[in-house]
Amino acid sequence: MIQISASCVGCGKCVSTCPFGALSLVNGKAVASAACSMCGACVSVCPMKALSLPAAGAAKKDLSAYKGVWVFIEVGNDGRTQKVRPVGFELLSKGRELADQLGEELCAVIIGNHVQNYFAELSQYGADKIYSVSAPEYHFYNTLAYANALITLIKKYNPSVVLFPSTYIGRDLSPRISSELFVGLTADCTGLSIKEGNLIQTRPAFGGNILADIKCPDYRPQMATVRPNVFKKNPIAAGRMAQVVEETIPVPFDAGKVRVIETQMDPVSTAQKLDEAPVVVSGGRGMKDKEGFYLLERLAQALGGAVGASRAAIDMGFKPKEDQVGQSGVTVTSKLYIACGISGAVQHTVGMEHCEVIIGINKDANAPIFNVCKYGLVGDAKQILAKTLEQLKK
Ligand SMILES: Cc1cc2nc3c(=O)[nH]c(=O)nc-3n(C[C@H](O)[C@H](O)[C@H](O)COP(=O)(O)OP(=O)(O)OC[C@H]3O[C@@H](n4cnc5c(N)ncnc54)[C@H](O)[C@@H]3O)c2cc1C
Repeated sequence: MIQISASCVGCGKCVSTCPFGALSLVNGKAVASAACSMCGACVSVCPMKALSLPAAGAAKKDLSAYKGVWVFIEVGNDGRTQKVRPVGFELLSKGRELADQLGEELCAVIIGNHVQNYFAELSQYGADKIYSVSAPEYHFYNTLAYANALITLIKKYNPSVVLFPSTYIGRDLSPRISSELFVGLTADCTGLSIKEGNLIQTRPAFGGNILADIKCPDYRPQMATVRPNVFKKNPIAAGRMAQVVEETIPVPFDAGKVRVIETQMDPVSTAQKLDEAPVVVSGGRGMKDKEGFYLLERLAQALGGAVGASRAAIDMGFKPKEDQVGQSGVTVTSKLYIACGISGAVQHTVGMEHCEVIIGINKDANAPIFNVCKYGLVGDAKQILAKTLEQLKK
């Protein structure tokens, strides 16, 4: 929140300037409410220089006090069992590289219930240390409880880097923590590296037209989120065991405002599954209509996979936005990817070109999708899919 010193004379200039209506006059002095976004618009209009942003006056941090690359490990429910979401292993693999370059420890941070079940796996993916917070109250994800636990750990151990998966939970949690710690957060990074001791966070900017390198040289920890399937998992190092630091952190009172009674998988959206599915069947504008997408659903079901879509198909309302594959959607690295009626624009192919086997179905033999395909079928997608389903049935 904006800081207001005793030199405020209550002239009210800041009140009329604040775009968020967060300032008011109380007893002849300016007072800020929780709506303050610290945009700083009021600072320059104050004739008494009574307003300041906390960072502006804050002393530069002693960066040498911050050590360690941390990865927040998300435990997910695939509809049957609780397990570590694979993106956690991808981040540990990348984190290992960063920690080695910095000469610091790689630490996994896991919050939940019975999390000791995952210690061996986390160790095998390179963690030197595991910070665990395990209690029945943490069984279901709760924003306030998890944020409080992580903030407590970060303030106690001072990591230099904290990485989050760019999942629903990671996207909900990380900005709460960064704003509480008053540090930056780079969302949806596609590259991470170390330069002169700083984390270089690479991400597409301006609608994906440029790649921006972002660094936070003055504050710690440096925080970033990364989408699933952007980094590759390292092979596991069997027998490796990390040091475990178990912490007991009581759930704050206000976390009880939200109580999760049960969780259910959304049968419509496949977003959770899309980035982890072994088979992805995707459709584009060439599928023409919802009927075309029904064929894709049937094929995906028969192959034990999930259905994705190109942006054109999303724009036509055939699938929800969460199911978009590509630069501004999900990145998939499935064993099999079947692209039906998709032209193969670069914004689509960057999200699927690392799949093991890609099959393209397109009526245009010169469609660019065939440049990334192992197998190509030229013809009407609906007819080919109908015949394939018939054969699978047999
Ligand atoms: C900043 C930015 C970000 C973007 N992000 C994404 C993204 O994340 N994901 C994404 O997908 N796109 C993205 N796009 C859009 C992308 O550029 C393309 O416009 C989009 O991928 C095209 O979708 P499409 O291939 O389904 O449609 P089209 O390009 O229209 O292609 C349709 C294809 O279907 C074929 N076809 C037609 N009828 C049939 C038939 N009966 N049987 C078989 N084939 C048939 C045609 O030959 C054609 O090749 C982005 C664009 C921008 C500018």
